[in-house]
Amino acid sequence: MPDVNTLERWTTLGVEPGVAPGALERVRALLNTDDRFHGVERLAEAPAAWRTLRDALRAFVVDGSADALDREASRRALVVRVGADGPRLVPVDEHDEAAALLATVLDEHRAGRLQRLKACANPDCQWVYYDASRNRSGRWCSMGECGDVMKARAYRARSRA
Ligand SMILES: [Zn+2]
Repeated sequence: MPDVNTLERWTTLGVEPGVAPGALERVRALLNTDDRFHGVERLAEAPAAWRTLRDALRAFVVDGSADALDREASRRALVVRVGADGPRLVPVDEHDEAAALLATVLDEHRAGRLQRLKACANPDCQWVYYDASRNRSGRWCSMGECGDVMKARAYRARSRA
């Protein structure tokens, strides 16, 4: 089993629905450790620093609030490296997973993919999923489950009105 200090120990990649492409999946997997659908805090036994980073990421990705993530970023050491495909930020310490994750956040934001991570609009779910719809109009983690539940709720609400 991986070291308790590593993200790998606490996150599970590829959990449906809404798996993100490439490195962005590591960000999504961390966000979903606050598993509101199952009511489980998957970082309960993890080092507190991971929870702080996760909550800061969630505030930025889901709520658009930058302050906490800015504080986290200011504590990490990253440096600009330049390759044939252009400049990018990389961690000063190659073992610094938090810095690597922040570099991924920057890359994915620039590529317009970070903005496709959303929390399911079903308040009982809030699962973070990758919205692959062409016009980024997805609202639920999956149409089959949350989409149908929420449409039925809206229908009942309209019927009562
Ligand atoms: Zn959902």
